Amino acid sequence: MINPAFRCVLCGAPLTRVLFAVGPDRYLECRSCGLVQMNPLPVPEEPGEDYEGFDLETYAKFIVEFRCPQYERDLALIRASAAGGRLLDIGCGMGEFLDVAARVGFQAYGLEPSRRASEIAGRRHPVVRGEFGQVRFKEGAFSVATLWSVLEHVPAPAAVLAEVRGLLAPGGVLALRVPDVRGLLPAISLAGWRLSFGRLDMPLRILYQLDWHYKHLYGFERRTIVRLLEDNGFAVEAVRSEPSFDVKSLKRRMDYVPLRGPALLAAKVALGAILVAAGLSRRQDELVVVARRTD
Ligand SMILES: [Zn+2]
Repeated sequence: MINPAFRCVLCGAPLTRVLFAVGPDRYLECRSCGLVQMNPLPVPEEPGEDYEGFDLETYAKFIVEFRCPQYERDLALIRASAAGGRLLDIGCGMGEFLDVAARVGFQAYGLEPSRRASEIAGRRHPVVRGEFGQVRFKEGAFSVATLWSVLEHVPAPAAVLAEVRGLLAPGGVLALRVPDVRGLLPAISLAGWRLSFGRLDMPLRILYQLDWHYKHLYGFERRTIVRLLEDNGFAVEAVRSEPSFDVKSLKRRMDYVPLRGPALLAAKVALGAILVAAGLSRRQDELVVVARRTD
């Protein structure tokens, strides 16, 4: 039973539909605007360290092999809207995006809450360790801000966008990446959960990072991320669909999945097939959006 007082954070409509639930984590889908939202939200959200005890070296290889070529495409999209200047990567991780941004001429700065990751990124770039919202930046100090795989993790995305808007100069550009809940991979994962009456929950656990400290609190799609940006002082200039992995990076990605033997092989074959089908049907599982601050 859903509390009738629960309202969609994007459009205000009452929330009446459970999309899925795994353990204590329940996700509702707004029938009016389509936003998927964890409900109730984990409160209070204490800062955590997902990278402690995590194999950062292997993860860095995945990023360099798979994400860095994506970052180059992202920067080409950003540069169509902003030629250069000061760029802040919010949640910069180990700084790989900063490497690419600096290479194409941006003055690249990073913000990262993880002690380990901020220390690694800080060896190559000016990086502040901290949670966004708790670190103060000068108003209008940046011409570009980036939020790669961040907005789906924050309890109040509109408040984060308002803050990002404040640290951008007038006409400044925001670029972000979020998972797309309408992608083929999340759709098949959800279908598997339903058809198995909730027993096959591993794909959803992985996609929504339910075994991590920073879980996904929201699930966006093209219309909901565009609406969120437009409602918070941004004009969308470009939206691009992207995969969250490719055939080459599949092996590394599977290093983080608790499967072995035939189950691992079956999962790899299934994921490879879904990846190809998602590309052909243009239902990849991530969205990249570039938007400009409106004044
Ligand atoms: Zn809604």
